[in-house]
Amino acid sequence: MSKLLTDLIEALRCLPGVGGKSAQRMAFHLLERDRERGLRLAKALDEAMRQIGNCSRCRNFSETPVCALCSSSSRDRHVLCVVESPTELAAIEQATGYRGQYFVLLGRLSPLDGLGPEELGLDRLAERLGEGEIEEMIIATNPTVEGEATAHYLAQLARAANVKPSRLAHGVPLGGELEFVDRGTLAHAFGSRQSVD
Ligand SMILES: [Zn+2]
Repeated sequence: MSKLLTDLIEALRCLPGVGGKSAQRMAFHLLERDRERGLRLAKALDEAMRQIGNCSRCRNFSETPVCALCSSSSRDRHVLCVVESPTELAAIEQATGYRGQYFVLLGRLSPLDGLGPEELGLDRLAERLGEGEIEEMIIATNPTVEGEATAHYLAQLARAANVKPSRLAHGVPLGGELEFVDRGTLAHAFGSRQSVD
């Protein structure tokens, strides 16, 4: 097999769920019948990888210093929802009618993996809570062991800033990841969130 082809197949394997066989099928497909779209894919990948950074306010993906959501004047400035990743932010946006602000941790507390408060941007989150605009902080971390530990820490952070912490309610299966929960369940869990005591 040509070196370029081998390189392409190897590169495609970086995608989640794509093993050697699928990577080869994708590479052959693009070369055999979809070169134009292959080039479009390459261009989009190149631009996205170079230009998408993180919003300085919420840490979600953004190609501008402050993302569209954070700069929108139609979002409620008094509620802040904390999620582990941009995937979950997207799931909440699509499934619920939530109109508040977000903060993306880009991970969860996991000392063994070197993920502490600093890596999760919790100093920035504390600053944000300290600005005094936020009244409720919805903790939407995943119901996993690490997600729960993170939630506990976040609730303390909120209380220290005189902000009411709340948690997504029942309906989210234990150990389940939010992005895989169906829309109805997520919307329900979001709507019937409970304050943390
Ligand atoms: Zn933002």
